[in-house]
Amino acid sequence: MFWPPAEGALLACFMTILMNLLFLATGLIAEVLPQLAMHVQQPVLRQFNIFSLAMIALWSSVFILILLIRRNNPQSHIPGLIVTYLFGHPMVVMAYFNGVHSMVTGLLLAVTPAFGFVMFRNRHVMNALLLIWLEVILLGLAVSLGWLTDAPLYGDQPPNRFLVPIWFFIQVLIGFPVALALLMITRYIVSTLRTREAQVRELSRRDALTGVWNRGYLNELIAREVALSERSGQPLAMVVVDLDLFKRINDEYGHAAGDQALIHAARSLGASIREVDHLGRYGGEEFVLLLPNCDEENARITAERCRTALSAEPVKTNQTELTLNGSFGVAAVRGDKINSDELFRRADQALYQAKEAGRNRVVVAN
Ligand code: GH3
Ligand code: MG
Ligand code: MG
Repeated sequence: MFWPPAEGALLACFMTILMNLLFLATGLIAEVLPQLAMHVQQPVLRQFNIFSLAMIALWSSVFILILLIRRNNPQSHIPGLIVTYLFGHPMVVMAYFNGVHSMVTGLLLAVTPAFGFVMFRNRHVMNALLLIWLEVILLGLAVSLGWLTDAPLYGDQPPNRFLVPIWFFIQVLIGFPVALALLMITRYIVSTLRTREAQVRELSRRDALTGVWNRGYLNELIAREVALSERSGQPLAMVVVDLDLFKRINDEYGHAAGDQALIHAARSLGASIREVDHLGRYGGEEFVLLLPNCDEENARITAERCRTALSAEPVKTNQTELTLNGSFGVAAVRGDKINSDELFRRADQALYQAKEAGRNRVVVAN
């Protein structure tokens, strides 16, 4: 999704309010300006203006409703659903006032789907559009058959029987398939863009060498997990890992062997944690494990498992096989008030103690 659902919905409300303000302004000018007033049916214009005003009130209320929903749950999809299914129906009423064959109607029908596909869930936009098309087709039919006045804003023309077959031919046999094709193309373009955006986003979060999360995204994950832990009251643990005497590997076997060792370490650490845990590369040969819903003792057990796994399998480089060791600093908090900097500082300090005590070990911060 290009937009968080609530933001897209708020923008759609805002634009709809602006559009109706424009309709109202035009309508009010047409009421007072004699040059315009003579071209429109004044009683109908009054209805049109009241309708615009009602729409401004309706969409302002929806705006406030969405703000409330968003405050409760920023990721809620309800705002998107409300806007998707509400948007088209007042447009059909506007189309009725202006004439179902008018350019205004055509433009709105052509432009709004693209907007919907970018902002909201494709499946619902598609449903809503099919509903609106059905309404427009029925409206057009009713106008063509003379059951409703065509463009009542501009006068009371006698029904034109000749319109019916032409209207049917244009709308149903040509207009509908063409619009459907356009819609499919829009949908395809939007979904392609979305896939690419997702790929780029994924790439921007990964460390290029090891494929684990990079420092930037790890910080985002830390902020998110801290918020979740504070809300749920579950503990949160952090493990800082620093590979032992890594400089020596680089010096003795070369930088390429060092890189292979880093890839090996990332794979080994990743295989030793749960699905819900996060692994990131924080610096050169430094990794961070973030363990949600994990207390100090379980974090120590996890770190110990990682340490054993890391050393168990030798790194195969082009020249040689070498054993990789790591030092682990562990810190955990209960999920009340969490200071992530403090958590990191404590884990890092424990790591420092592990190094001091002779490396290749796990130390838990006290
Ligand atoms: P200690 O046990 O005290 O951590 O010793 P150490 O040698 O691991 O510590 P130090 O921080 O002095 O050295 C880290 C080395 O990691 C320095 C650098 O050459 C190496 N390094 C950092 N990033 C990379 C990388 O991307 N590839 C390779 N091959 N080496 C790297
Ligand atoms: Mg280091
Ligand atoms: Mg090191």
